[in-house]
Amino acid sequence: MTTTFRSVNPARPDDVVGEFPAHTADDVDAAVVRAAEAQRAWARVPVPTRAEVVAAAGAVLAERKQELADLVAREAGKVLVEAGGDVQEAIDMAAFVAGQGRAAMGETVPSELGDKLCWTTRQPVGVVGLITPWNFPVAIPSWKVFPALLAGNGIVIKPSEHAPACCEAFVAACAEAGLPEGLVQVVHGAAEPAAALAVHPGVGAVSFTGSVATGRKVAAAAMESGPRVLSLELGGKNAMVVRPDADLDLALDGAIFGAFGTSGQRCTSTSRLIVHPDVAEELVGRIVERAEALRLGDPRDPTVDVGPVITAAAAERIAGMVEAAVAEGATVATGGKPVTVAGCEGGAFFAPTVLTGVRPDHRIAREEVFGPVLAVMEVADLDEAIDVVNGVEYGLSAAVYTRDISTALRAVERIDTGIVYVNAPTIGAEIPLPFGGTKHTGNGFREAGTRGIEQFSQIKTVYVDYSGRLQKAQIDTHPIDTGAGAAPGPREEDA
Ligand code: NAD
Repeated sequence: MTTTFRSVNPARPDDVVGEFPAHTADDVDAAVVRAAEAQRAWARVPVPTRAEVVAAAGAVLAERKQELADLVAREAGKVLVEAGGDVQEAIDMAAFVAGQGRAAMGETVPSELGDKLCWTTRQPVGVVGLITPWNFPVAIPSWKVFPALLAGNGIVIKPSEHAPACCEAFVAACAEAGLPEGLVQVVHGAAEPAAALAVHPGVGAVSFTGSVATGRKVAAAAMESGPRVLSLELGGKNAMVVRPDADLDLALDGAIFGAFGTSGQRCTSTSRLIVHPDVAEELVGRIVERAEALRLGDPRDPTVDVGPVITAAAAERIAGMVEAAVAEGATVATGGKPVTVAGCEGGAFFAPTVLTGVRPDHRIAREEVFGPVLAVMEVADLDEAIDVVNGVEYGLSAAVYTRDISTALRAVERIDTGIVYVNAPTIGAEIPLPFGGTKHTGNGFREAGTRGIEQFSQIKTVYVDYSGRLQKAQIDTHPIDTGAGAAPGPREEDA
């Protein structure tokens, strides 16, 4: 008998958003078989026609934006404006990917030989397994589903157990747009179905977004079970560097939005502020003042600035990290603990927190918090500040605030992250450019942009020789002189 689990509203845990089946490895197996059957026909559909289905899905999402945003706010705890942004990202991704349906998908190069053509095409991988986190519950499925569909794949998606309703609503919108029956399968639950999907022999590519700890397990299991395309988009420990010549009003807005937007639960959230001592007191004082003025509450109330964190367990984990920081010598300038919000009793709220006196070797300066906590470090020298940015195992996003072009460009060049902002916060990526990180944040693939299709397709290189005779490429016509007579080479008439 299939057991079930409940998805609840993190602001009001007695509000049950939905009850979902906890799928098993057998269920995953059946889903892969169904997706594979549908994929055989989908692979023969011309790419521009596949793109039309993606565009139609975008149109359905746009029609339902309000309703979906409300669901995102209710299930994932994002304030309404950010919940709308989550859905908008999917609408924009549909438009971008649909456009790619009529764009170049390969390369053509001149051949070394006459009467010969060389080019590449992109082929589907078959069935792709998508494992997604809860924090962009519509956007991240769209970053994966739309390019995977355009590339001609069948899909089995396992959304986070904390946001299953959002994924169901997203897939329902795609189905309404004319997606072939069976092509996109959703399986629910936590580790069991996800782990089964990652190692399933019928899955040609696994695309995982989530924490480093889970990503490592997925990577080890997936590669053990056979070669496949494996893309990992993992956590971040993003830093904002503020130089003494920075526009402090701008840096203040960037720090508040970067650190406390989405309650600090974006992979790109600003987690470290590396500020020059000359401006530290003024900037940190103003950040604390603004943090204390933020209104916490039900994210579906449009006057609320900061919603809950995803679960009470997450709030406890964040409190533990703050306590450990204090034990290591940091000072809580504001916040630092879970709070009770009137009208949302039992909700998982955590006060926007600023920690001062943090050193780069403190745990709070090295590990992802994934909550509304900003760790402040004072560093005078630019090269040293960049070393602090780079001195963590993550490499997703970074920001530098300065009015000096040389400082900005030095930082852009030397910071080792997949995304760098100048005079803008660490959050705010745009769809047409690649998204992803270096080091333990990712394994080199990028989502979004024209590269977003790479993890969902295989390149096929094609050579067509219409000379009517055996022509040998350079690899066989430039032998070294071994002194043992001529190596078999081109016939005289070919030379
Ligand atoms: P998580 O790692 O807890 O879960 C991610 C997914 O993995 C979920 O669907 C979960 O059910 C599944 N899972 C759990 N155990 C598994 C196992 N043993 N094998 C396979 N899958 C398993 O992450 P989360 O809390 O949902 O999301 C937050 C994390 O995601 C943060 O670390 C954040 O930085 C990261 N994130 C990264 C990006 C990016 O693009 N780099 C984007 C968003 C979130």
